[in-house]
Amino acid sequence: MTKFTTPTVRFAPSPTGRLHIGNIRTALYNWLFAQKQTGQFILRLDDTDRERSTDEYAVGIVEDLAWLGIVPDRTEKQSDRFAKYDAVADALRDKGLLYACYETSDEIDRRRKRLMARGLPPVYDRAALKLDDEDKAKFEAEGRRPHWRFLLPNFTDNAFDTRRTEVKFEDVMRGEQTVDLASMSDPVLIREDGSYLYTLPSVVDDIDMGVTHVIRGGDHITNTGAQIAIFEAVGGPVPQFGHHNLLQDASGEGLSKRSGALSISSLRQSGYEPMAVASLATLIGTGQPVEACADIQMLADVFDPEKVSRSNAKFSETDLDGLNDKLLRAMDYGQAEPRLRAIKADLGEDFWIAVRPNISRFEQANQWADIVEGRFDTLPVAPEDAEFLTLAGTLLPKEPWNDQVWPNWTSALKEKTGRKGRHLFMPLRKALTGQDHGPDMRQLMPVIGLPRTLHRLP
Ligand code: GLU
Repeated sequence: MTKFTTPTVRFAPSPTGRLHIGNIRTALYNWLFAQKQTGQFILRLDDTDRERSTDEYAVGIVEDLAWLGIVPDRTEKQSDRFAKYDAVADALRDKGLLYACYETSDEIDRRRKRLMARGLPPVYDRAALKLDDEDKAKFEAEGRRPHWRFLLPNFTDNAFDTRRTEVKFEDVMRGEQTVDLASMSDPVLIREDGSYLYTLPSVVDDIDMGVTHVIRGGDHITNTGAQIAIFEAVGGPVPQFGHHNLLQDASGEGLSKRSGALSISSLRQSGYEPMAVASLATLIGTGQPVEACADIQMLADVFDPEKVSRSNAKFSETDLDGLNDKLLRAMDYGQAEPRLRAIKADLGEDFWIAVRPNISRFEQANQWADIVEGRFDTLPVAPEDAEFLTLAGTLLPKEPWNDQVWPNWTSALKEKTGRKGRHLFMPLRKALTGQDHGPDMRQLMPVIGLPRTLHRLP
């Protein structure tokens, strides 16, 4: 890499489902890395599986990223690029590095089981390399189609005499990593229906698109060993790799596209702040405190890829609730105002300051706007409180009101009636808000104001 190369990363999801919090961790690590390095972020839809990929999921991915503040510099689709992959596959075939195999998955399975029963690693024995043209013609006549494997460079002259072949790479997150190419099977690059697994297209694209850093989940470390060999065979520069730990759900299960509850779209529908989701997805499972970052730039400043832990991390909804509360409490009126307006709940700065500690989702500001403006069901007044509330109405000061109205008013009432604590405060709160809990009345009373307060007292 010359020093003029723009750091370039890519996020390569398959549009075969909605993104979950674990996928988003990968997207964010790439995005934040690009932000820190003033680099480029490519969204690359890994849609070589034409049966399972849909446009709808592709649109969903773009939406989910945008909600988190990730706007790719460039978007690519692997399905537009089959001709390139075909050309590279042909070149590998010509070099004898991509070979046809005819085993059915049942046959492969049986061989694996036999090896494992003997305590041997279930590595493919390259039997297909021994097939001659006649054998192949026979398989084809039976209606079998080949799948294609890449011949790993883990031998000197004889492909059946493999030897320990270490591929070393400096992982952005884990430091030096070593993968032994003799410990794995030659990877299948093309399925028997002619479709590509992501392995080769990913290498071809990384080369063509000038990807300098491949940041992805720790489940790809072994693939990285094989892919480095493929980069070298194809003749492209090998990018730097970084593998982050994976997220698990609260029960310690890995996340999958099927765990719908943790999909970004469902978290969004539950009303979470995008930065609560982004802060948690980024900072959990790192040696860094899980802070509620107010915007993506702040998260980029805080995030340090070298601090990502090795062991997997557990995602918890309670942590997410905590971060969401923190963000709402710290949100100033300038930020809240357009959103309050959008939900028809903009009753001004004092209103926002009063309600923000009492909501766990932004939308709930709306319920408090209703209460302030009198759209609530009044509670029945207990007989022993009727007289007290009538008296309270006579002791209200003139406007303008500030945060001293409530303490002064309740002190005056205390003096006149001898009531204190709950007996003093609760009938007033209930009459004014129709609720037995809620924002600090000191802050809420000036927002309700004199005419509405009078109207709510007998
Ligand atoms: N579509 C692959 C995945 O999501 C991409 C892997 C990669 O980033 O290279 O696992």
